[in-house]
Amino acid sequence: MVTTLTYDDYYAAEFKDEFATAVQIWNAAVSNVQIVKAQPGQRVNIRIYADNNWPRATLGPIRSTGSGSVWMGRTAVNQGYNVVRIATHELGHSLGLPDRRTGLCSDLMSGSSAPVSCSNAQPSAAERDQVQRNYSGFFGTKLDAKPTVITDSAGK
Ligand SMILES: [Zn+2]
Repeated sequence: MVTTLTYDDYYAAEFKDEFATAVQIWNAAVSNVQIVKAQPGQRVNIRIYADNNWPRATLGPIRSTGSGSVWMGRTAVNQGYNVVRIATHELGHSLGLPDRRTGLCSDLMSGSSAPVSCSNAQPSAAERDQVQRNYSGFFGTKLDAKPTVITDSAGK
């Protein structure tokens, strides 16, 4: 069974296009979960914001009954980090991937441990597999009482 999550980019300011691209990347990379834009009046699972801090996101896997937030932070954008890569990385958190600071550009969840010049926005095979597992089989309505928000600052 495919989980469909909705997102709302009303507050994504100048980053709407990059998030649309990031959503396309994830939808092409995995099949157990798909992300679609919320229609008016529909429940929103992932709310996207933009602000001047570091990018950050609620750690999922977010369920179709749950909700979380993603923030595009202009601090990282102004330091030159690739915006589509950031957007895809933060949505990776929504889908239940933690940070793995491997320093490798080929890893999406290496985040800012990869060089600033890294523009890879594709999840690795291992990262795809993990998301597929996060959304496979049956799961109940297990919801964290207190969602964790992961902040992606450089040099952490
Ligand atoms: Zn991160």
